[in-house]
Amino acid sequence: MAESSIEWTELTWNPTTGCSKISQGCKFCYAEVMSRRLHAMGIKKYKDNFKLRIHPKELETPFKWNKPKVVFVNSMSDLFHKDVPLEFIKRVFKVMNQCPQHTFQVLTKRADLVERYNRHLTWTENIWMGVSVEDERVIDRIDHLRYTDAHIKFLSLEPLIGGLPSLDLTNIDWVIVGGESGHGARPIKKEWVLDIKRKCDEADVPFFFKQWGKAAFNPNPNDPTIAADHKHHAKGGCRLNGRVYRNMPKR
Ligand code: SF4
Repeated sequence: MAESSIEWTELTWNPTTGCSKISQGCKFCYAEVMSRRLHAMGIKKYKDNFKLRIHPKELETPFKWNKPKVVFVNSMSDLFHKDVPLEFIKRVFKVMNQCPQHTFQVLTKRADLVERYNRHLTWTENIWMGVSVEDERVIDRIDHLRYTDAHIKFLSLEPLIGGLPSLDLTNIDWVIVGGESGHGARPIKKEWVLDIKRKCDEADVPFFFKQWGKAAFNPNPNDPTIAADHKHHAKGGCRLNGRVYRNMPKR
């Protein structure tokens, strides 16, 4: 468990680590970079670097938090990676089922497997299920999510590297949008973000704009949230037409 700097969560919990790349959104995978760093530091959990590994001992961790937490599940992996046995995923879900005081945000790019495993999993209200979509090429992930029984279904449109003209928000409860950061980052465009926001407004879906990614991608060079000491600081700033959007679904 670790406190997270991610704007839409409090803690990260990684019952699996490691992954493999599946689409363009993985190009500059943060988890891969961090795994290599932690491996080099000699951290035992990352002794196999970025290879997919399951950590059954981690299943005890959520029972030790004495206050209700909002938890991003598997910031360093993908719970629905094909090499994670369904039996282990069921054990992770059982822990989440037994901890209704915590809110668990599970995010995957393997949306087809979520739909396939759906009937084997118990979807208590504290489990928010999300899919990552970076551009139109992988927009079918949203359909897989739509057909699951998760009570809260969310989209992480980050790193947004293309417009999403066919985005359909039917049965979707929350949308997060963000630009890519770091060396070589691919630019996000304001018109893509505004198009998504308009669809959120029309469908009454909470809209969370996380970041532009780089100051160079921010259409407003004077956005005060670019400054590291601003209370809403995010990478590259996070104002959109002068406003910060950090809306969340109701819990
Ligand atoms: S699915 Fe996520 S964790 Fe896995 S390689 Fe892609 S970005 Fe990294």
